[in-house]
Amino acid sequence: MCVKILSITNRIEAQKLSDMEHFDTLIVGGGPAGLMAAIRASSLGQKTAILEKNASLGEKLLLSGRGRCNFTNAEDDMNEFISRYGDNGKFLYSAFSRFGPRETMVFFANIGVELKEERGKRIFPKEGGARRVLESLIAQCRKYSVATIRNSPVKALKIRNCRADCIITANNEYTADKYIIATGGKSYPKTGSTGDGYAFARQAGHTITDLYPALVPIRTAETWPKLASGCNLRNVRLHVLLDGREIDQRFGEMEFTNFGISGPIVMELSSHVPDWTKQEGELIFSLDLKPSLTHEILTARIKRDIDKFRGHKRFAGLVRSLVPAEMVRLIIELGDIPHDKPVEYISDEEIAEFVNLLKDIRMTVNGLWGFNNAVVTRGGVSLKEVDPATMRSKLCDNLYFAGEILDLNGPSGGFNLQICWSTGYIAGSVSKLSGE
Ligand SMILES: Cc1cc2nc3c(=O)[nH]c(=O)nc-3n(C[C@H](O)[C@H](O)[C@H](O)COP(=O)(O)OP(=O)(O)OC[C@H]3O[C@@H](n4cnc5c(N)ncnc54)[C@H](O)[C@@H]3O)c2cc1C
Repeated sequence: MCVKILSITNRIEAQKLSDMEHFDTLIVGGGPAGLMAAIRASSLGQKTAILEKNASLGEKLLLSGRGRCNFTNAEDDMNEFISRYGDNGKFLYSAFSRFGPRETMVFFANIGVELKEERGKRIFPKEGGARRVLESLIAQCRKYSVATIRNSPVKALKIRNCRADCIITANNEYTADKYIIATGGKSYPKTGSTGDGYAFARQAGHTITDLYPALVPIRTAETWPKLASGCNLRNVRLHVLLDGREIDQRFGEMEFTNFGISGPIVMELSSHVPDWTKQEGELIFSLDLKPSLTHEILTARIKRDIDKFRGHKRFAGLVRSLVPAEMVRLIIELGDIPHDKPVEYISDEEIAEFVNLLKDIRMTVNGLWGFNNAVVTRGGVSLKEVDPATMRSKLCDNLYFAGEILDLNGPSGGFNLQICWSTGYIAGSVSKLSGE
């Protein structure tokens, strides 16, 4: 209701602006990065507009954290925080030192979003989820008279003499002193993030690094995961083997899908798959269903169970006592022991094979699901061509970038939205370096 009223008022405002389409700061993209940039610029007195292709702002933000919006992370060791972004993380030192996770939490608390911390130091709004976050941001845009020009897909950015000259939409042209591209990446294109900004950046001479879906389910060569599709496993360990050698591993939750595997630890590993598949050798994920038990302890436990079940249970019953019900069929299919074999007839060799299976279920990685299912995009505007202190293009004087369009991505846990808040805030700041 509240958003609806705001949207009508903003449209009226946008219409009033039709005969004065020059702005101090013009932002392409009304997602989290664009909204933060707009709030910052307008609060500093800049006449600011957002051009948004959709009828409404922040569509992807509304989906974040399954609608609950894990908008940052309370990890307070900055080096640890930055390390979560891999090699490119060091680009964020400057932005985080001015507007990092702590400042983000204060900012949201000040605009009426109470916070709560959950597992893994994830920060969520205490109430209202993603909608509360979005409405609070839109309210700030209203407060500072940001013109939000919706239903306006930007078609082109014109560059002249190493400066952005104007922006062209289907119906209009807009000029500004400063342009901020915050069009997001290519993930979840149904939310409006269709990668348009990469073309604008290329028009300005920027390099776009290779783009991959990240935080995305993984496809396996084997088709059997579908036998346990939807089965959610907790406290398991995934070992990553390249050419038989362990190169990474994760402990936590995962699930089987119709085409392979998904869930938090799989999504996190997915961001590295493009690098691993460039190397020689087969990429295998090995699942340990009982990581806290050694082979010996698990063997002893199974033998105890067999003694207990002797005379009244078959192999399927033994399996059911060890794995979730949805996985029983899969485990029986993958092994050699008939489901109806009475437990007392299971040999020591069969027990050893069964233990090996529970601790080493192998899956061959056969690629990633596409951008439609990816939480974020890996790759983007090359960081070498952007000033980390201002987010200003090094190639084009009055052009800035913010958010997922940059070659930055993090794991789940609030790290990706933090990129947007920090780079958006910095891009929206009036840069002393440029004299703007
Ligand atoms: C399902 C899902 C859940 C997520 N959950 C979390 C989470 O809990 N925590 C977290 O940290 N991250 C999460 N993320 C990631 C996070 O949502 C993104 O990192 C973030 O939205 C990126 O913000 P952005 O402003 O850079 O781009 P976007 O949010 O993609 O916004 C870009 C905007 O630009 C507009 N646009 C694009 N092209 C044009 C054009 N040509 N003209 C005009 N407008 C244009 C788009 O319509 C869009 O509104 C999630 C992502 C998904 C898909």
